[in-house]
Amino acid sequence: MELEKLLFKYFGYQTFKTGQKEVISSILGGNHTIAMLPTGTGKSLCYQLPGYCLDGQILIISPLLSLMQDQVEQLMKFGEKRVIALNSFLDSDKRGYVLRNLSKFKYIFVSPEMLSLTAIMKKLQALTISLFVVDEAHCISQWGYDFRPDYSKLGDFRKKLGNPLTLALTATATKKVREDIIQSLDLEEYNKIDSTIDRPNIAFYVEEVPNYYDKQSRLIELVLQLQNPGIIYFSSKKVAEQMASLLVEKGIKRTMAYHGGLDQEQRILIQQQFIHGQLDVICATSAFGMGVNKENIRFIIHYHMPMQIESYLQEIGRAGRDGEASIAILLYSPGDEQLPIQLAEGELPSELQIDWLLSHLVHSKIQNDSFLEDNQYLREQGGFSEVQWRIIQDLIKNTQGSSNLEQVKYKIKEFVNERLKVKKESIKFMKKWIKSKSCRRDLILEYFEEGAVKESVRNCCDICGIQFDEYQATEGEQTNHMTEGMWKDYLTNILLNSELSK
Ligand code: ADP
Repeated sequence: MELEKLLFKYFGYQTFKTGQKEVISSILGGNHTIAMLPTGTGKSLCYQLPGYCLDGQILIISPLLSLMQDQVEQLMKFGEKRVIALNSFLDSDKRGYVLRNLSKFKYIFVSPEMLSLTAIMKKLQALTISLFVVDEAHCISQWGYDFRPDYSKLGDFRKKLGNPLTLALTATATKKVREDIIQSLDLEEYNKIDSTIDRPNIAFYVEEVPNYYDKQSRLIELVLQLQNPGIIYFSSKKVAEQMASLLVEKGIKRTMAYHGGLDQEQRILIQQQFIHGQLDVICATSAFGMGVNKENIRFIIHYHMPMQIESYLQEIGRAGRDGEASIAILLYSPGDEQLPIQLAEGELPSELQIDWLLSHLVHSKIQNDSFLEDNQYLREQGGFSEVQWRIIQDLIKNTQGSSNLEQVKYKIKEFVNERLKVKKESIKFMKKWIKSKSCRRDLILEYFEEGAVKESVRNCCDICGIQFDEYQATEGEQTNHMTEGMWKDYLTNILLNSELSK
């Protein structure tokens, strides 16, 4: 059957989005494929549709539980029931049932940690994996901004599964990262499908304000002027909360904060309200965005300096999915780079923590790394954050077999320093981009080695010149200034919704 017909039959869409058809055709032609498609272009369809043409199972490796859950739900919404996620959310009863019946599922999502479990690998080896999908494939590369040590074993896992047909998907990867992906997965021959990273309907606007206080008032001013809806990204939960309250106080009432500190129910509610147009502005941390398929987001503001251009592009890529003009604003005040540096350092275990943990393990004569897995006590004693704990666990696992403590310590420290160097380089580039005196779009395209191709962009960036009033709301569009009556109705609605969702 023609691909368009299959697209309509299973997904109800009339046409493919950029890159989808090329990727799907490449896979169905039996070629390993590495695809770089911008956020929001529907990367998931690139493995969802082949599932209806290929016999056997589609195995999707996904780095984040929330992302995996979202992808499972997406398939179920299309009426596909043969979907399962093998991750730590599965309780042991359900896991037993699933593993006994694995061949009944068509789409199997799995985290890399699960793949390293022998029992799971054995079950997968008994299946016919017709497509091995690596989602967010940039996590494989240590040059990638989001390197996951547990992703580096995917090449081995692929081999254990008999080197199945492979699809590596990413939205943001430099050439170096892409080369690493291919090497790690050991793909000898492959098709490379790159779509441009550029989103011409999103204008870049960087504004330098003299200090942090001015930034606050400038933010309020901007949000009062701009067309809704919009997202403001913060690097701190606390500041996101504070600014959301301040915006409400200033009359932008349909504003809410969203971050990982809220409970699951609250998060779902806020996300749904935003998607359905009951909220105009979200003050968010990076926890917000994945799975938010809202077409008409008109602005994205960054209040804090992002840690790297890759995640910045992912976040601003949530704007203008309807193709209409949208704006990405970054507010910078001198010294802002200190926060991302601190955050980068905080993500990695410190030398002190490494020394402490390793000598503790030696003293306790614990050589078995699985001991670390559920050891909340040890984690707290060493003051490890969740991310630091995950990293150190992986590193210790990777150095298994080496009995020389000094060598293990050295290897771990070397890794941490290397990561920090990569992260600092990324922050340096972000600063260079902010301070740029030449076209911001060109600089991004250069970074991803695409070459400058932006002649046709009308509202390009603040350097090339943009018509700011095109992004401003007209009198009639100002839905955020609610009358007292509207505000009361709105609050009643929220309360009602939260009752219903209980
Ligand atoms: P991402 O590339 O960010 O991973 P997703 O795969 O989550 O994007 O898809 C984004 C949205 O686009 C989803 O709601 C998906 O159903 C929708 N979508 C995917 N392909 C098409 C298409 N060909 N036509 C219309 N919508 C599509």
